[in-house]
Amino acid sequence: MPNDEFMSYFRKASQYLDNNEQKNVQEKEDKKQPAKDTQQDKHKEQVSQYLAQYPNVNLDVLRNLNELKEITKQPKTDEPDEALAGIEQRLGMPEAGETLRQERWGRTIKCPECTSEQIQKLAASEQKDPNIYRYVCLSCWITFNDDSNTEMETELPPLYTWMLCWYLFGCTNSIQYISTKLGLDHSLVEMMLKYMQKIFKAEKPLTNFLTFDEWSNQYGKTYKKAIKENLIKKEVLLGRDTAETPADTHEYKKQKNNYRGPNPKPRS
Ligand SMILES: [Zn+2]
Repeated sequence: MPNDEFMSYFRKASQYLDNNEQKNVQEKEDKKQPAKDTQQDKHKEQVSQYLAQYPNVNLDVLRNLNELKEITKQPKTDEPDEALAGIEQRLGMPEAGETLRQERWGRTIKCPECTSEQIQKLAASEQKDPNIYRYVCLSCWITFNDDSNTEMETELPPLYTWMLCWYLFGCTNSIQYISTKLGLDHSLVEMMLKYMQKIFKAEKPLTNFLTFDEWSNQYGKTYKKAIKENLIKKEVLLGRDTAETPADTHEYKKQKNNYRGPNPKPRS
């Protein structure tokens, strides 16, 4: 009998301990899991929010623009050789095209003819150049390019030189230095810089473009490092070919059907 009593006590005790252990483990899991998930969700959300600001920009180009802006945020010097090397490393034709878009349009592309914001980017086959986009205005139906009605349109000097000049101006005030590096006349460089300051309404490169750090400082201090890492991971995942927004075909068709031409014939 004392043996049975002992066994019954033992069973109860071990059951109690088991339950308690399970409960503890569960509590620990409860505490750990959701916190981790919430954090990851926040990272993901912030990465998407940032990317949503630049839906048409290839991630590779977006990162290079981030770094180009960081370079031009350093104090200006008379002979910015190091900055020049950094710029040349990151500025390719896609970055030159994207810089022009960021500077000229910011977040809103407007029709140069009627200032409508109802704009559609044309298909890749209809582009002037893979890096200079062509658009159609859904209000007046003219087509135009990123460089339409600008001095860059003539390609003399080429867009790349314009943009290299612009980025260099972010690192030095020495026209002499810039003209030597670009192999252009002092007076031409001066003219180019004045012109870009005027049409971009800015004193230095990428004023309206928010780097990831700037965006993160504004919207989510805590996750800065994690988001940056996620952004890099996402870039690797998606590869180079990304972010082509699908055409809004419904809106396109609707607008086109409503359009009656520049001089609608009076109904008889
Ligand atoms: Zn228009």
